[in-house]
Amino acid sequence: MIFLLATHNTKKRAELARILAPLGIEVQTAEEAGIDLTDVEETGETFAQNALLKAVNGCRESGMPCVADDSGLAVDALDGAPGVYSARYAGGHGNDDKNMDKLLSALSGLPMERRAAQFVCTACCVFPDGTQILTRGECPGHIAFARSGSGGFGYDPIFLPDEADGRSMAALSDEEKDAISHRRRALEKLAAALKERRLVR
Ligand code: IMP
Repeated sequence: MIFLLATHNTKKRAELARILAPLGIEVQTAEEAGIDLTDVEETGETFAQNALLKAVNGCRESGMPCVADDSGLAVDALDGAPGVYSARYAGGHGNDDKNMDKLLSALSGLPMERRAAQFVCTACCVFPDGTQILTRGECPGHIAFARSGSGGFGYDPIFLPDEADGRSMAALSDEEKDAISHRRRALEKLAAALKERRLVR
């Protein structure tokens, strides 16, 4: 069975495909499937609602079982912001540099012990018969005082995962990020749920 991967974010898409392949889940992007997917407006108030919106739309427009994720950064000192607004935190959509500048300013003056945060990912799979599976993964860490590293995307240069010896997410190799990421954790649970229900082998 081939699943449609419903995301327009090329870096995120690469991570999703890279993590799903060894879990035994074969995916195709909309381009690979020859489908012109509508860009869904993320109107949900939770990661789960937005992931569901994207997966339901992808499944409806393609007729294929569809996997989507919604993810973001939740900062404790900001009561969970930027949360579902992570991509548009500084206005517009997906300006990583402006988003990081805004977050660093919002936390300016706070010591490391008050800079705790989590990356959160909700993964969703929707089947043409209406079956829906939703899972969630988290990666705990802290917001750095300045950027470091050149890999990854989004807030990676200013996120210090608790499991990375003080290096930023952007300073980790792809394999190191995949071993601890919120996305990997959500997708592992999704793969396990699909296997348990015998929806994949
Ligand atoms: P969406 O899931 O496409 O709505 O966007 C999530 C936004 O959260 C991205 O644009 C990034 O700003 C941020 N984000 C989500 N996952 C990651 C990650 O693994 N690293 C860095 N930033 C992330």
